[in-house]
Amino acid sequence: MLYGRTTLSKCIIEEQRKLEGGAELIALVNDIQTACKYIASAVARGALTGARGSTGATNVQGEDVKPLDTIANDIMLASCEWGGYLAGMASEEMEAPYAIPARYPRGRYLLVFDPLDGSSNLDVNVTVGTIFSVLRAPDGVVDPRPEHFLQPGTAQVCAGYALYGPAAMIVITLGTGTHGFTLDPEIGAYILTHPNLTIAPDAHEFAVNASNMRFWEPPVRRYVDECLAGRTGVRGKDFNMRWIASLVAEVHRILMRGGLFMYPKDTKDPAKPGRLRLLYEANPVAMLIEQAGGAASTGRGRILDVAPGALHQRVPVVLGSRDEVARLERYHAEFDRGEVEFRSPLFNERSLFGAAHAAN
Ligand code: MN
Ligand code: MN
Repeated sequence: MLYGRTTLSKCIIEEQRKLEGGAELIALVNDIQTACKYIASAVARGALTGARGSTGATNVQGEDVKPLDTIANDIMLASCEWGGYLAGMASEEMEAPYAIPARYPRGRYLLVFDPLDGSSNLDVNVTVGTIFSVLRAPDGVVDPRPEHFLQPGTAQVCAGYALYGPAAMIVITLGTGTHGFTLDPEIGAYILTHPNLTIAPDAHEFAVNASNMRFWEPPVRRYVDECLAGRTGVRGKDFNMRWIASLVAEVHRILMRGGLFMYPKDTKDPAKPGRLRLLYEANPVAMLIEQAGGAASTGRGRILDVAPGALHQRVPVVLGSRDEVARLERYHAEFDRGEVEFRSPLFNERSLFGAAHAAN
């Protein structure tokens, strides 16, 4: 048994000595990590709790079974509402912000979270996570309204995710690098195992939901076609493709070994400018990726600079190795300027998905 290892609590205290913010932020992160331990435990019990079915099911004790998304949301609220550090919370699971109950003191931070990211993967026992972002409440605000949460990602004082995979982890940043902690189940503490994560600038791995290919914009098709062409194409090297369909797991892979992840804008549902949510998905992961030397973009600008217009706003996401993200931004810019008349080889006359099909 090793003593004196760096726990998450110790690391946050040391980081805070370098920053202003102090005890309240340390205590808030402690409450968040407690919540993540509860959620890790609930998720790890899997089908044993009967909790993965949809609402309306009953468990063996005849109690109503809540979906794990709702359980995780309740855990975050209960773990973080009491401490006096928060003025309010907002979550993917709640249409409006959550008001801190009157019996508790109010604090100066706002917590925004996705309590269970990738929850459609629960049934197949694939990695899921919790994503969180800490903002400052505007001065004098004790009962925040939705507009008080509408701050750009650059305003985040802390961002991170908990990952519930083969090992449970928390990856977090206070703006001084991105650091990974692994839950040691023997002592119930997150231990610093991945200090100062760094993403290599180039990559040979990309992740995208290719079933949406026909809805993509030309710059995204161009990028993916070039990756698929591999050594024989303009990139001159072969690429691997990955797709887990769980943002936390995708971002974690990129923090561990680089690559590019994107959920770009598409024309599938013109009402939605992207798939991922800005405040509690894109912004926190963008801060983690940037703090590790990577880049996070909408394809047309830095995610952290997007001015939010609504609590549950969606945004296109392109993130990971910075040279790859820069290449995608360049392709978008060239397309927007009308410089490139791009036609995908996959959609040409005699191609796989082109006119040859119609002839059959
Ligand atoms: Mn999610
Ligand atoms: Mn979720």
